[in-house]
Amino acid sequence: MDRYRKQRTRMVETQIRARSISDPQLLKVMETIPRHLFVDEGLIDQAYNDNPLPIGEKQTISQPYIVALMTQALDLKGRERVLEIGTGSGYQTAILAKLADRVFSIERVAALATRARNILDKLNCYNVAIRVGDGSYGWKEEAPFDAIITTAAAPQIPQYLVEQLVPGGKLVVPIGSREEQTLFKLTRSVENPAEITKEDLGGCRFVSLIGESGWKE
Ligand code: SAH
Repeated sequence: MDRYRKQRTRMVETQIRARSISDPQLLKVMETIPRHLFVDEGLIDQAYNDNPLPIGEKQTISQPYIVALMTQALDLKGRERVLEIGTGSGYQTAILAKLADRVFSIERVAALATRARNILDKLNCYNVAIRVGDGSYGWKEEAPFDAIITTAAAPQIPQYLVEQLVPGGKLVVPIGSREEQTLFKLTRSVENPAEITKEDLGGCRFVSLIGESGWKE
């Protein structure tokens, strides 16, 4: 039993379950993934706190609750192919890896992608493929996806990503200004794949998506 287990249990109880996240599989996975491995050594004691933390390269690991909220919105049952834009620390990636069949993750900063890959290998997340590049184009060779999650904020709906969803597929993405955004769950209609329904999951603050469907650097 690792010494962070208690902190993890408390994190799930007070930050996740207390805020109406109820998917039992998701709660179980968040109780097992060692979040402290994904933060810098100097921040280990804060790894289970109720906030984002810097991970270098001017990027952040998301707040645990936001990770839970976004993951729950994807409705994963275990057989999905998932695309993630913004690997960052790899923490969200690890959670997706435990809840879906395959995870494809794109990160534009090579150093972050390498670090995430190492930790994910240590945690036996062999169903994850990571690529370095502009994820706002999606991952055409591996499309379509049952679910897409963007963990960097976009100025508008990233059209390439919508096109890479299966009918009935879901895209969770923060949309707004560089300072603040609204988290949206977009669902591609089964009957008419050109139709997208949009659900507002609340306000949020993410680092910027940089690239074709994002901002210039
Ligand atoms: N889920 C990650 C969030 C990291 S922050 C975590 O919790 O650790 C968002 C990440 O998106 C950053 O690492 C940033 O470099 C990356 N990013 C920004 N624009 C991108 C783009 N166009 N393609 C891929 N990654 C991008």
